[in-house]
Amino acid sequence: MSVDWFFKLKEIDSLTKMKSAFLKNKSEQEDRVSKLRERRESSLMQITSLQQEVFSTNHKLSEAEKKLKTASEQKQRLMDIGGDENKISLFQTEIDHAEEQGLELLTLLDSLETQMTEIKTFLSGLEKSLQEIESEVQPEVAKINSELINIDLRLKLLIEELPDSFRTTYLKTAARNLAHGPFTRVDQGNCFFCRYKISRIEESEIDMQRNLKSCPQCYRIFLPYGA
Ligand SMILES: [Zn+2]
Repeated sequence: MSVDWFFKLKEIDSLTKMKSAFLKNKSEQEDRVSKLRERRESSLMQITSLQQEVFSTNHKLSEAEKKLKTASEQKQRLMDIGGDENKISLFQTEIDHAEEQGLELLTLLDSLETQMTEIKTFLSGLEKSLQEIESEVQPEVAKINSELINIDLRLKLLIEELPDSFRTTYLKTAARNLAHGPFTRVDQGNCFFCRYKISRIEESEIDMQRNLKSCPQCYRIFLPYGA
């Protein structure tokens, strides 16, 4: 009878491993999409900050144009009335300065527009690959989800069927994440994995009476002969 419980333990173990492989695959698939979404987010933020810079540069440009207009008018008025040469040349300096500033701002605007165009081109390519990858990932994830539902149902059933001692011992041992899994066998009077010496009595309890026992040294659960 209890040999069946060992079969169930082994099935629980392999289903659990399958489940974690599916979960890993699922998160890898989802990462492919979320990485692209993050890049899209950061490009959109770059565009917003460039737009703000364009806005403030345009404002500075209109200020410079106003200054240029005022200085030009004042210079002209002074020249019309034959005003002081020194004052006229001060206005000219102001005009030169405003023109220079205007030119610098126009160059800056030009470069901001270029940057924005580049990012928008990048974004439209990104949008396209995002759609492609989403259309690949979605059916893949849906398939994994239905596999996971089946595994969970089967696991629930198996765990319900196990006696408490089997369930508790298995869960504790599985949580240790031992290399080569949570099971061992008696091999010529020793634990197959760690060579811990097993007495004749214990060997018979494991293999003949099919009692649930763990190796005291490596903690793996002994599978009886035939399981
Ligand atoms: Zn051992």
